[in-house]
Amino acid sequence: AEDNGKINPDYIRSFLFENKLMPSTWIVIRIDGCHFHRFCDVHAFEKPNDLQALNLMNSCAMAVLKEFQDVMFSYGVSDEYSFVLKKDSEFFQRRASGIVSAIVSFFSSMYVMNWKSFFPEKELKYAPSFDGRAICYPSSEILRDYLSWRQVDCHINNQYNTCFWALVKSGKSKSDAQNTLKGTQAREKNQMLKQFGIDYNALPAMLRQGSCVFRLKEDVVIHDNGACVKKVIVDYCNIIEPSFWEAHPGIID
Ligand code: ATP
Ligand code: ATP
Ligand code: MG
Ligand code: MG
Ligand code: MG
Repeated sequence: AEDNGKINPDYIRSFLFENKLMPSTWIVIRIDGCHFHRFCDVHAFEKPNDLQALNLMNSCAMAVLKEFQDVMFSYGVSDEYSFVLKKDSEFFQRRASGIVSAIVSFFSSMYVMNWKSFFPEKELKYAPSFDGRAICYPSSEILRDYLSWRQVDCHINNQYNTCFWALVKSGKSKSDAQNTLKGTQAREKNQMLKQFGIDYNALPAMLRQGSCVFRLKEDVVIHDNGACVKKVIVDYCNIIEPSFWEAHPGIID
């Protein structure tokens, strides 16, 4: 490196670190909105759940599945989405930085591109961003445990947030609402919701269960160029129950 005229490229490359993901494992890329607490405030999202904001997230996830064939399934809630790549994927030679950055930047671009369709009356005030990470799961059982964990989290957070905002809308301060909910069990929260006239189980499935995006193998779409691809759909399914995976063989086997 002493002589500027003859820098050895191997020497420069020797600083590049390996970040290849373990072979033959399910790769999950989880993205999450950066500082969406603030983003929701600035864009006056409805609380506890802005349906249009969730539909916008879902449209971006659908675009990801259409763009990246190795993504088999995705699950989203709030400002996050998990994308599952097939076990034998060779996308970016399984380099974590390549896969994460490609998915997270595509998703962010779609979010901005699709904004107007979901919020025709609302101006996008600043550029949203997402962070992303890659995690490998060595078996479909563990992958399903991961997805179940996200769906349980969705339920717990949604139940809490629904109670919290019912208390706030009834006139309590945010800190009073927080104190009222401290240490309460699911049963007490359901009781509380009943008193506010909210039947939790009657809330839209998207809020209670989150969103799943996947391909329907029996349904194909023919593109202008003649290419024939499986239809990508969004559905609000219970992915903790084995019945979902039994009804959709081939997503993860
Ligand atoms: P970080 O950058 O660490 O992720 P964050 O502010 O994004 O910080 P999260 O834990 O990711 O924090 O939480 C996301 C926030 O965005 C929560 O407050 C959640 O209620 C809110 N949020 C996300 N989507 C919606 C939505 N569709 N409607 C209303 N609020 C939403
Ligand atoms: P990959 O997805 O593998 O990166 P790529 O098509 O993006 O594929 P690169 O090796 O990154 O390939 O090369 C970028 C290409 O874009 C080159 O062909 C380069 O000439 C072209 N390009 C980039 N910036 C400009 C620019 N400002 N004006 C004209 N051409 C550009
Ligand atoms: Mg985060
Ligand atoms: Mg976030
Ligand atoms: Mg989040």
